[in-house]
Amino acid sequence: MTGQPQHVVVVGAGLGGIRTAEQLRTAGFRGKISLVGAEQHLPYDRPPLSKQVLTGEWDPERIVLCDKARLDELGISARFGEPAVALHDGAVELADGTRLQGDAIVAATGVAARRLPDQPDTARTLRTLDDTLALQNALATARSLLIVGAGFVGAEVAGAARARGVDVTVLEAMPVPFTRALGPEIGAVCARLLTEGGVDLRTGALLERFTGGSAVELADGTRLDADVMLVGIGGVPELGWLASTGIDTSDGVPCDARGRVEGVAGMWAVGDIAAWTDPVRGGRHRSEHWTNATDQAAAVARDIVGADAPPLSTPYFWSDQFGLKIQLVGRPDLADTVLPLHGAGLDSGPVKGTVAAYFAGARLVGVVGFGAARLIARYRGLVGREADRAEVLALATSE
Ligand SMILES: Cc1cc2nc3c(=O)[nH]c(=O)nc-3n(C[C@H](O)[C@H](O)[C@H](O)COP(=O)(O)OP(=O)(O)OC[C@H]3O[C@@H](n4cnc5c(N)ncnc54)[C@H](O)[C@@H]3O)c2cc1C
Repeated sequence: MTGQPQHVVVVGAGLGGIRTAEQLRTAGFRGKISLVGAEQHLPYDRPPLSKQVLTGEWDPERIVLCDKARLDELGISARFGEPAVALHDGAVELADGTRLQGDAIVAATGVAARRLPDQPDTARTLRTLDDTLALQNALATARSLLIVGAGFVGAEVAGAARARGVDVTVLEAMPVPFTRALGPEIGAVCARLLTEGGVDLRTGALLERFTGGSAVELADGTRLDADVMLVGIGGVPELGWLASTGIDTSDGVPCDARGRVEGVAGMWAVGDIAAWTDPVRGGRHRSEHWTNATDQAAAVARDIVGADAPPLSTPYFWSDQFGLKIQLVGRPDLADTVLPLHGAGLDSGPVKGTVAAYFAGARLVGVVGFGAARLIARYRGLVGREADRAEVLALATSE
């Protein structure tokens, strides 16, 4: 492709997709933009699905990211309820047979809820607005909820259900929940949020089989039954429509440090499906976080119009559980050591106010906080420049 493209086709009308389309206009793109989404809904924001929308605090209208009038104003030609099924030579094929020929393609199809083998339809998942409304409806009359998998979404749902007085049991296969995302030390702090919130948390619990309705049997023979069951075991990238492209999608869509898909001219990927090359450390990293999708959308839009992209911000993630905001800055997966900076949560004291640092050798690669927004703001810049351990510990003891 030389010069600016004429027609950008954005596949996936969630956060990354709509932000890319909007940012293209902000970056001065005057050509045609087509946006296609598998769901019937206007683009909407997902974090409130397991928070304010599930609890009923917010109406679904409040999470719309871009309404029809704004789409028209931006000149974005949108098709909803029509998934892409294939990509051939720059043409995106939709389920109804329509072909959209673009000279720039942006893949933003996100992830679908991961399912267990033989998972029955009675086991709910939470990924879409429709999932949330169905779960909300089921919880309105439920007395008990069984959650398979102690992930962030499961923990948020557990908190919302406990607030309604529902008995909640959470099954986690690992000895400590959140180990993969936060490491065992911080995972143990998150586990306390669940148990102190009145959740029956069962760790090391291996699911043997579903036994009908919302009942399961564990490997040790324990049988559990509840009014409602939710399986929350993470997401799987939505890549089926790329099957015939030859792209190696073993862990998302492989991209360079600007989001250009490796080996495919005129194609970019953003958000949960995109495995971007880390310009500093090398290697590819896929992140299922809101800020990541927003940042990547802005960078890709600028790259498409030939402008320099701003550097990506330091990775950031939050989760609201049991009245506390958990905030994570950086890459805990790179760490070999976790040290407490503030509060006593790592020593069995109150979880609220706890802040801990992740170090790779002497370099600060992440910070996590529980109800400690002011402190997290203080360390964000230090994570960005991978500050030295001595500087971080000195700051922690400076007041
Ligand atoms: C319940 C929930 C709570 C969350 N809470 C937080 C949080 O607290 N903090 C945080 O940082 N992140 C949170 N996230 C993650 C955050 O929402 C995602 O990282 C973000 O939405 C990623 O944007 P995306 O565009 O990659 O994917 P999505 O926003 O999921 O959008 C992908 C879109 O593509 C569509 N699609 C899929 N396949 C096709 C196809 N073949 N053709 C056309 N369209 C297709 C989908 O229907 C979807 O609308 C949460 C996610 C969920 C589900």
